[in-house]
Amino acid sequence: MFKIQNTEGGARTGVLRTSHGNIKTPFFMPVATKLTTKQITPMELHDMGVRSIISNAYVSSLRPGLEVIKKAGGAHKFMQWNNCLFSDSGGFQMLSESFFKDIDDTRVRFADPFSGRIQSVSPEDVIQIERELGSDVAMCLDHVPHVRSERCDIEDATRRTHLWAERCKTYHDAHDKKNFYGNRQLLFGITQGGLHKDLREKSAKCIDGLDFDGVAIGGLCIGETREEMKHAIKWQMPHISDEKPRYLMGVGSPEDILNSVEMGIDCFDSIYPTQNARHNNVFTRNGNIRIDKGRFKQDLGLLDPACDCYVCKTFTRAYLHHLSRSFEKTYQRYLSYHNVYFLIKMMEEIRDAIGKGEFGEYRKTFIELYKNTKKI
Ligand SMILES: [Zn+2]
Repeated sequence: MFKIQNTEGGARTGVLRTSHGNIKTPFFMPVATKLTTKQITPMELHDMGVRSIISNAYVSSLRPGLEVIKKAGGAHKFMQWNNCLFSDSGGFQMLSESFFKDIDDTRVRFADPFSGRIQSVSPEDVIQIERELGSDVAMCLDHVPHVRSERCDIEDATRRTHLWAERCKTYHDAHDKKNFYGNRQLLFGITQGGLHKDLREKSAKCIDGLDFDGVAIGGLCIGETREEMKHAIKWQMPHISDEKPRYLMGVGSPEDILNSVEMGIDCFDSIYPTQNARHNNVFTRNGNIRIDKGRFKQDLGLLDPACDCYVCKTFTRAYLHHLSRSFEKTYQRYLSYHNVYFLIKMMEEIRDAIGKGEFGEYRKTFIELYKNTKKI
């Protein structure tokens, strides 16, 4: 399923084999919560080199619902995505006031924000939803607590996450590790533990010991500082087997990705590039820029001269600035396309650099240039 190819310090490259293709690691996944990546078509994603995206199983089960997805032959066919599809479980929705009602060891109760109906969801229910969605990689249902919760609450969420990880695994194994369409489905466990060293270590040991196809580090990038996140990852890494793919959930800033690859992370997902695009924020090698600001009104330079995407090769900053003031929908598409492309190319360069034993230098140079980010 997963094979390491090159290593440099903690960083490594490898290949993750899935039912919808092999993915070179480390890689970044754009988020497609509602079975679409915002503003970018599946063909565009494929052409820029995206080989996996992540949808949300629980949200997709509410709308459009599993009936039509099954009738279409699964989420891949329904959304016309022919590469790997991860599915997140719904753990993250526990942080959302519009979804979360309450929780005990048997189930979580969510309010359906579309209908207002209250729904009980067990770990087994979630795996069944992920099977029917037909994802290539399913995630266990974890209990994600707020990062600043009391220690006793985080301890309880971590304990419940472990209990549910076992139940997810048992249910998945009972279905021969296959999804509803007969394809081999990988199952990743998720760690928790908040910002507590002992809980993080205990969680990594427990999840690593359950023989999952991969281990995800969860409960981060939800309001803690960059340093706190780094510590939490560092505490867990020694307890996650080298031969398993390691997935850091929710992380997508270039700096965080580079620092985490150095610690041995293989896989990332985040709304960061598309969310930034919606806020007029463009990634460039020389730091981020706010293209809607007045200083770009007369700037006939290309968006990011160091990027070779369609948008950067085609449009001037002045033109994109003009679109930002005209509230044209194409504008959001252009910025989202560029920001995702930027990360996908960065991942390619990271893999290349690790292969040549030059990642340390690459990371340093990239961050030095990128730190120019102007707060404008
Ligand atoms: Zn570009």
